[in-house]
Amino acid sequence: MIGHGRLDVVKSSVFLALSLVWVTSVASAQEPAKPLYVLEDSYLRWRLLPAEQAYLSIDGKHLKQYVEDLTAISRRYRDHGHPQFWGRITGTEADAENAQWLLDKFRKIGLSDVREQSLDLPPQWVPASWSVSASASGKTVALESAQPTSTSPGTPASGLDLEAVDVALASEGDLAGRDLRGKAVFFYSADYTSRQAPISDYAIKRIGDRGAAAIFVIVGLPGNLRTQFYPVGSTVPTFSLGLQDGVAIRDLIGQSRGGQPPRVKIRLDVKTVPNLKTATVWGSLPGTGDETIFVVAHRDGWFEGATDNASGVATMLGLAEYFAKIPREQRRRTIHFLGTSGHHDNSGMTGHWLADHKEMFAKTALIINCEHTSAEQLVYRGGVIRRTNTTVPLRWYVGGSPRLEQIVVKAYDAFGVATYAEPEPSAGGEMGPYYQLAPSLQLIEGNLYWHSDRETAEVVPPTGLAASTRAYAKIITDVNQLGLKDLLRPQATEARR
Ligand SMILES: [Zn+2]
Ligand SMILES: [Zn+2]
Repeated sequence: MIGHGRLDVVKSSVFLALSLVWVTSVASAQEPAKPLYVLEDSYLRWRLLPAEQAYLSIDGKHLKQYVEDLTAISRRYRDHGHPQFWGRITGTEADAENAQWLLDKFRKIGLSDVREQSLDLPPQWVPASWSVSASASGKTVALESAQPTSTSPGTPASGLDLEAVDVALASEGDLAGRDLRGKAVFFYSADYTSRQAPISDYAIKRIGDRGAAAIFVIVGLPGNLRTQFYPVGSTVPTFSLGLQDGVAIRDLIGQSRGGQPPRVKIRLDVKTVPNLKTATVWGSLPGTGDETIFVVAHRDGWFEGATDNASGVATMLGLAEYFAKIPREQRRRTIHFLGTSGHHDNSGMTGHWLADHKEMFAKTALIINCEHTSAEQLVYRGGVIRRTNTTVPLRWYVGGSPRLEQIVVKAYDAFGVATYAEPEPSAGGEMGPYYQLAPSLQLIEGNLYWHSDRETAEVVPPTGLAASTRAYAKIITDVNQLGLKDLLRPQATEARR
């Protein structure tokens, strides 16, 4: 009896504990606690030392307005007949509009030689429209979050009607013995920040090699995000899928086990559009000598592209404003500001043009790539994405002399730019094709919403914009105290001897 009684106590306390957990989780899911501050005004910020007060004129809230302007261009494009594949898409009216917007800003700031260098694009991949739905035993689910990976092949006009299979994580073990030929294959990925071919250790390739007719990667972030992937090298229609849709299709597949497997209907109308144009937007601040500094920011972006790369363009404009106020005789080197065509369309027109014109960098002391300079730290916790009052740490690259490296490290420290512990060994992103042609550096990082329809201005902290931009301004100032040869990478100095 006593034993029984004890067990009852244990049982009831377990029950109590479970119901408390349940109550707590339901309560937090339904009614988050009332915020005690306005987040936009309350991100952690760095207090500057007296010697750094000059950089206070670089104002995060002001720069944030540029991010708002650029994201509005994306939304306009979406609302003008492009509801599925949208953003500041290269070669489209959104490209032309943001080029004009930037030319206007450059002129207002007072840059010289403000001009648009037109560039002919190779034929562009345009997913004009698509739909994906799954059905089993009379039940149909529309997979609204499906987004084709960049350069994915389309389907025949009549679409595809395929058997759906779920391969879990698409590891070798998950795929062993499975017949994927001619099927629509779904896999789940916890590789949350990848929007690239290597996701889940090249799962898309593993599935493609086994003859799948369509591939779906379920991005395991809470909610039902649309995510835009870079090309994944797949030869069949390939899509990313939000978690909600991903769970729905996996449930459908699981529940029909032993009976008729679900069918997936896929229609993807892809056009290849020739004769489009893009541009590099140029503006300069002349210095006293013949040496140069390049500040670049890519203008394109998917969806609202608030971090990628409205933040970078805002940073570039912040630098232009800061140095435009400094008298020319105090500016040692000419600074060229470039709004580049970008790389999301895979052509990287500006980048390749610059790489083909090495002479541009013959007397270049520094290239700064302004790319993804601010993003709120989002935390995946308890099944939801939680917001925070701080920025993500940024990946960083610096290529130059040890003195340049120290200038950079000190500037990030002075302005509170959080970074990864070690720098990157090379510079990915927009300046990839030409970063080795001169001393160069960048900060670059997105958050969990990177390349998704949630990457809005709301999650671009003004404090992050201020910190990155001030650090870059200080770096340019400090670099201008040094001669060109004191900035070069050690091996570059060797080569020039
Ligand atoms: Zn991007
Ligand atoms: Zn980018």
